[in-house]
Amino acid sequence: MPQVNQKIQIIRSERKTVSLSLKGEIVLVRAPMRMKDADIMAFVERHSDWIERQLSRTEKLDLKDGAILRVFGRDFSIREGRSGFLGDSVLLPKEGREEALTRLLKKIVREKMSALTERIARENGFDYAGVKVSSARTRWGSCNSKRAITYSFRVAFLEPKTCEYIAVHELCHTVYFSHAKEFWELVGRVFPDWKREQKYLKKSPAMSFL
Ligand SMILES: [Zn+2]
Repeated sequence: MPQVNQKIQIIRSERKTVSLSLKGEIVLVRAPMRMKDADIMAFVERHSDWIERQLSRTEKLDLKDGAILRVFGRDFSIREGRSGFLGDSVLLPKEGREEALTRLLKKIVREKMSALTERIARENGFDYAGVKVSSARTRWGSCNSKRAITYSFRVAFLEPKTCEYIAVHELCHTVYFSHAKEFWELVGRVFPDWKREQKYLKKSPAMSFL
């Protein structure tokens, strides 16, 4: 199940069609009075590309030399060079910095999130099929019915604690495929402070950084 990054606000009225608009990072959905919540969410899901495009216009990272880039809770200063992390610096080529950084982050996210997921699974007895990395902008992570977990490379912009919550969330989906009460009870047993991270994720602008 996807972890939708945006906060969604549904406004029902005597109308016949559904419309979407954005108020800051909140998705406003105007819907007919009797439309089912599940149908409204399916509508939002179908328009996730549109939402992504709108959000991509918000906060962008500064990738100039000397700018600070925070990756997994650690600050690095940007310098020109062949792509890679070096001490407290992240080296990026003169041209095509966004693409170079995306490639670099995908690699580091695959390593870090694979190790993190494996540790949490081992400690709590979860069974999953593997970890992949995507460029998703509307979800931090997802878990399919084959128990394969995918993380957006954009989790690199989050703090380690938040990444841990995302991994716990997806691993709990290997047991419960929905967001039913039992699912959240399991999340709470593995990661008691989940509400704080969930709230933080809803406000985080990190999806629009790159
Ligand atoms: Zn979920």
